[in-house]
Amino acid sequence: MTREELLEKALCCNRCGSCRGVSQDTVPHQDFSTQCPSGMTLFGAYEPAGLMYSAKGLALGALEWDKNIADALYSCTLCGYCEDLCSRGYRHTPSISILEELRRTIPENLKPKNLTKAVKSTTTTAGNKLDILKSFGITDPGEGKKADTILFADRSIIANQSKLKEIGFLIQKSGKKIGCFMNDPLPPVDTTLMNAGKQDVLEECMEEIDTLLETHGIKQVICYSPESLSVLVRFSNSRAQFVSITQFYAQLLKKKAHKKLKMPAVTYQDPCHLGRYAKEYVAPRQVIAGLGLTLKEMWRSGDNSLCCGAGGGVLVDKPKLAKRYASNRWNEAKATGAKIIVTACPFCTINLNQSKPKGGKVLDITSLMAQAYGYK
Ligand code: SF4
Ligand code: SF4
Repeated sequence: MTREELLEKALCCNRCGSCRGVSQDTVPHQDFSTQCPSGMTLFGAYEPAGLMYSAKGLALGALEWDKNIADALYSCTLCGYCEDLCSRGYRHTPSISILEELRRTIPENLKPKNLTKAVKSTTTTAGNKLDILKSFGITDPGEGKKADTILFADRSIIANQSKLKEIGFLIQKSGKKIGCFMNDPLPPVDTTLMNAGKQDVLEECMEEIDTLLETHGIKQVICYSPESLSVLVRFSNSRAQFVSITQFYAQLLKKKAHKKLKMPAVTYQDPCHLGRYAKEYVAPRQVIAGLGLTLKEMWRSGDNSLCCGAGGGVLVDKPKLAKRYASNRWNEAKATGAKIIVTACPFCTINLNQSKPKGGKVLDITSLMAQAYGYK
């Protein structure tokens, strides 16, 4: 993006402030009246309009990059709510592409080192434990074993034996022929690359992924991590369809007998990259209902959901701030009366866990599925 293009996009924002709030007519509690994780926790410059005006200043050359602008930029979780809400009004400020462009062009010395370090984990497949999947009948298209559908081995599962076993077990239960590139895995890309402003690295990885998907005739890719689903949906040029693992679970529950889970009422955290970016709001709720659980929705849910605070690299770069963001979410969860938050994102799980109140629990939808099918 050129400076002129950035300016053109940033000028869409007239600082009306609508994206600060919620779109419902009534607000049950003052704590729930604003919605940008960084803006509601910090102050004006950290709100979407503040960031958009900084972008305008930088594009015009009226502002120079400094630590304060960098701090506001990396306190944003890239949750996408501001862009979504802005587009519901009379403007459409493409705030996500503006914020991603700022992360791409910020001077190197202002880039958070932790974020730059994290990039490695989304490009390397060394030390992966994917062979475990073979014991559940999962085949490798790279070895010439035909499979139309594959599991995408993202960085949160690629070396996580216990999660791979749960997923492998559920795939086996489904009886479906699902493959996974195990001997020569696909680059485990996710939003980390956008968070760190490494669009060029993502492009290279996507080219490799697209080539392999096309070469092996893959029609569908199942993603466990919403942060991978989100970049694959946005940036792949292949003809494959990318779906959340929650869709696979919802279908499995309809087709194969399972036991109902017995536990107190739960609430559900919509992961931003599953809901807002990949528009998957239905399947996780079908899974929760199919498992026999009582769902108590938080006031901000679905396309008005509040980010847990992990995204945008905040969890990696500013873990204490991510924890503060997560406490906002727990306050809302507590207001439902439920003490358990179910989610379908490994990063929401980590962040909500680190700020859970006494008696609070965070449960991964995959583990609940495995439990319902008798996984030990
Ligand atoms: S991004 Fe859109 S909703 Fe937010 S302040 Fe700017 S114009 Fe208003
Ligand atoms: S993307 Fe989310 S955290 Fe970032 S400015 Fe927009 S609403 Fe705030």
